[in-house]
Amino acid sequence: MRSGRCGPAEPPRVDRLIRARAIHSMTGETYRSVYLRGAEIAAVSEDPHGLDALAGRATVVVEAGDLTMLPAFADSHEHLIEASRNTLLVPVDNARSVAEFTGMLAEAGKAARPGAWIVTSIGWHESNLAEDRVPTLAELDAAVPDHPVLARRGGHLAVVNSAALQAAGVGPETPDPPGGRIGRLADGSRDGVLEGGAVYQVAAFAPGPGRAELAAALGTCSASYAALGTGTIREAMTTLDDFLAYQDAWERRLLNVRARLMIRVGSELSGDEALALIRGLGARSGFGDDRLRIWGLKFVMDGGAEGAALDQPYASYPANSGHLNWDPEVMTQVCTEAVLRGWRIGTHAVGDRAVRTLLNVYEAVVEATGPLPPWTLVIEHALLSDSVQRERAVRDGFGITVQHALLWNMGSEFLVNWGAERTRQVNPLDEWLAAGARLAAGTDIVRPFNPMTNVWGMVTRGTKAAGIQRPEHAIDIATALRLYTQGTAELLGEADRLGGIAPGMLADLVGYRLDPLTADPDDLRDLTPAFTIVDGRPAHDPDGRLTR
Ligand SMILES: [Zn+2]
Repeated sequence: MRSGRCGPAEPPRVDRLIRARAIHSMTGETYRSVYLRGAEIAAVSEDPHGLDALAGRATVVVEAGDLTMLPAFADSHEHLIEASRNTLLVPVDNARSVAEFTGMLAEAGKAARPGAWIVTSIGWHESNLAEDRVPTLAELDAAVPDHPVLARRGGHLAVVNSAALQAAGVGPETPDPPGGRIGRLADGSRDGVLEGGAVYQVAAFAPGPGRAELAAALGTCSASYAALGTGTIREAMTTLDDFLAYQDAWERRLLNVRARLMIRVGSELSGDEALALIRGLGARSGFGDDRLRIWGLKFVMDGGAEGAALDQPYASYPANSGHLNWDPEVMTQVCTEAVLRGWRIGTHAVGDRAVRTLLNVYEAVVEATGPLPPWTLVIEHALLSDSVQRERAVRDGFGITVQHALLWNMGSEFLVNWGAERTRQVNPLDEWLAAGARLAAGTDIVRPFNPMTNVWGMVTRGTKAAGIQRPEHAIDIATALRLYTQGTAELLGEADRLGGIAPGMLADLVGYRLDPLTADPDDLRDLTPAFTIVDGRPAHDPDGRLTR
C-alpha cells in the first residue's frame, strides 16, 4: 500500500503470471512469460513455464499464448483534463451543421438556471459542420439570448455570443490582449471570434465544473484511455485549479492512467507576473509519485492551424503569417529563473517562425544557466521546421514531442491554411531521426484516441480525410512503438521504470491479438487491445482474461 495518502484504502493486489509473447520495446527481446508482483514486473522468461516456480496459490495464471504484449503506450502530449471536462459540457463536437450546433446550445440554455454560462466541449471543428464555418455571433445570440455562451474550439480559438462579451467586460473599444485577437466585422462591431490570449480573457469569467465533479470525470475518462492501451499521459496543460482536481482524483484513487502534469504559464501574464506565479508554486519538476507527478511548466509560443507563426504567409490569407505570443527577451528571463528553480519547460511551437524563435530563447537560457540535462527544455509539436532548426535542436539537446495524430486529424485544415507543400512537410519524423533528435510520440487529440491509429499514421503518413501526406516521411513500426513508449519515458526522466518490459519496471502492459511488429501496417489502424494492465491491475479486460 502507498504510504502517506489520505482517501480510501487500496484494494489488495494479486500476483499474476502471464504466459504470452512479450516484447521489450527497447531491446526487441521476446519473452514467453512475465511475472507481475504488485505494481511491478518481477521476472521475465523466454520459456512459457520458466517462472512457474514463482507462482503461489494466490497467483492468477493468465494463459494468453495467442496474444502479443507490449509496454503500455506513454502519450507524451495529451489533454486528459480537457477531455474529462468535455464530458461535462455541451457536446457540440457531435453537431454536423450550424443548426445542430446552435440547437444544442438552445436546449442547454433552456435547462440552465437564469444567467448561467453555457459552455461547450472544445473538441469540435467547423470542418465537421456542413457549412464548414464557425457559427456567427448573430446565430449564437439568436439561439441563446439570455445566457453567456462560450464555445472554445481547441486551445487557440473560441466563438462567443454578445452576453459572454458583456459578462467579460469586452466592449467595442476593448483592446486586443497580448498574444490574442478579439474579432471584428467589417463595420467594426464584434464578430464573436476570440483567438489566442483573448480566449482565456473571456473564459476566465465562465465558471468551470466543480473540483469533485472534474475529479470523477478524470476517473471515467482516464479509463477510456486505458481501454485503448495507454498507460501514461503527459498532461500538456493544467491550470492550478486543474492541478487540484488531479490531486483530488489521485487521493480518491480514481486515475486509471499515470499522469505527468505541465503547469500553464500563460502569455497573457507580464514577465513579473509569470515569475511571481513560478516562485509561488513551491514545488518543482519531479514532485509526486508513480501515479501522479509534476513534469514541468508549459508555455505557448504561437497558435495552431490558423495562428501558427510561419516564415511564409498563409496560403489562405496572404496578409497573415501567424503570431508569436511571447516577447523572446521576457520569455528568456522567465525560463532562465524557472530552470534555475528546478523546472523543466515544454513550449508549444507549431510554425517554423515559432520554432526558430523558441530555439533562440532556449539557447539564451542555456547560455545563462550552463549545460542542462536532456529533456529539460522541450519543443512541443514543431510541426513545421527546416533542416537548420532541426540541427540546432539536436546540437543543443532539446527534446521534441511529436504528434502524427495532429496531421491525421487536421490535415484538411493544414491544406487550406498552409498549402500542399507545407502540409506534406508537417512532422517529418524520418528527418528528425536522421538528424539524431530525441523524440517522444503522443497525440494532442483531446479525446480518447487509439494509439495504434497513431502508429499506423506514423508508418504510412495516413490521415483521417487528407489522404497520405508524403509517405517518404514514414518510419518503421518498431521505431514508432519505441518513440511512443521508451521515447516518452526518457522525456519523463523515468526510462528505468516506464516504457519497457523488464524486471523492476512498472507493470503497464497491453495485449494484442496479433503481433504489431510484424503486422501489415493497415491492420494496425483499427487494432484495439485484448487487455490493458496499468500499475499491475487490469485497466481493461473485456473477456475477463486477467481474472480467474
Ligand atoms: Zn496540446
